[in-house]
Amino acid sequence: MSKHVSIDIRVPVENDNPAIRRIESLCIRCGQCKEVCKKEISVGHHYDLLKTEDTAICIHCGQCVNVCPTGALVERQDWMEVADVIKSGKKKVVAITSPSVRVGLGEEFGMEAGSYVEKQMVAALRSVGVNYVFDTTFAADLTIMEEASELIDRIQNKKPLPQFTSCCPAWIKFVETYYPQLLPNISSSKSPISMFAPTIKTWFAKKEGIAPEDIYIVAITPCTAKKFEITREEFHDAANYHHTQGYRDYDKVVTTKELANWLRAENLDLTSVGESDYDSLMPRGSGAGVIFGNTGGVMEAAVRSAYYFLTNEQPGDDLLKLEAIRGLAGVREASVTIADIPVRVAVVHGTDNARKFIAHMEETKTHYDFVEVMTCPGGCIGGGGQPKHIGEDMQ
Ligand code: SF4
Repeated sequence: MSKHVSIDIRVPVENDNPAIRRIESLCIRCGQCKEVCKKEISVGHHYDLLKTEDTAICIHCGQCVNVCPTGALVERQDWMEVADVIKSGKKKVVAITSPSVRVGLGEEFGMEAGSYVEKQMVAALRSVGVNYVFDTTFAADLTIMEEASELIDRIQNKKPLPQFTSCCPAWIKFVETYYPQLLPNISSSKSPISMFAPTIKTWFAKKEGIAPEDIYIVAITPCTAKKFEITREEFHDAANYHHTQGYRDYDKVVTTKELANWLRAENLDLTSVGESDYDSLMPRGSGAGVIFGNTGGVMEAAVRSAYYFLTNEQPGDDLLKLEAIRGLAGVREASVTIADIPVRVAVVHGTDNARKFIAHMEETKTHYDFVEVMTCPGGCIGGGGQPKHIGEDMQ
């Protein structure tokens, strides 16, 4: 028998993975990583090492990290490099923080799950030496504006529908791997963090009089897949803008759990670090941007924005409270009317649910206009970099 066939695909992670590390000595062969990769993410049983020449396919969502009871799977610990850069004093370090981090971090310091610790988190980042701290909600608004404008353009100009959201990098790799025929349907908008970094290394750099190559940007996210996203070939727009080479839009991504590790290493406790406000790049983000972290949030925000673009009026309660797409069912659907245009939307979380949704959509030829897909159970709030809830059912 070929050596390929005898390999047990216990863990779909190689140690050159840009997002996740495997510590073989801690593995107790419980197989929970394999189960979640198969059942929720629908990756683990959809490749064959014979065909992929021993390359394990990983979309970097980190759900295996979330269920590993021993710490044999962990996100890459990139915070140490950020700490070294700060200590060197050679760069201006900018941190941007995603919405889900401020409701996840407190749990790592013994607070109740879901505690809102925005000001303590900002104070902690200043205490470890970060020079500027910005709220990613600002960039979430940029993404929503782009997604909503694109949706209107696709509907009005008969371009490919449905438009699938593009802000989840694990979902994008899932589509690239298994459904390349759907790539024309993926929104052309970059994710919030991938819009934010070039804004900082161009507009903000000029405003503050800092050379862009002297700015070091770390995104603090709930997401292990963002570590992969920032390594993608496409993301060096700031350098392109400045007609130069040698730096990328992002320098590092650090997860919620990593930030907690970093603070503990610096002997900082979130409960006693004090409070601080974000730096202001531009006026604060909207309520639409804040709901990005929950499954359904992108959809809801984009539908509201599309309504405003088309009517120049604020949406009514029916759009502000899209009850049918709230909640945690794996697939939720709704029909809404935006300026007399009927729009069919769906919200999917978990890529196994996405696989089933696509099969159903193709088999029944059901028309959808806009579909949000997030890889992690519950959306980014359940990301692979968030505090672990071993044994809890995330559904
Ligand atoms: Fe990252 Fe959110 Fe996608 Fe999970 S759902 S992989 S946290 S972007």
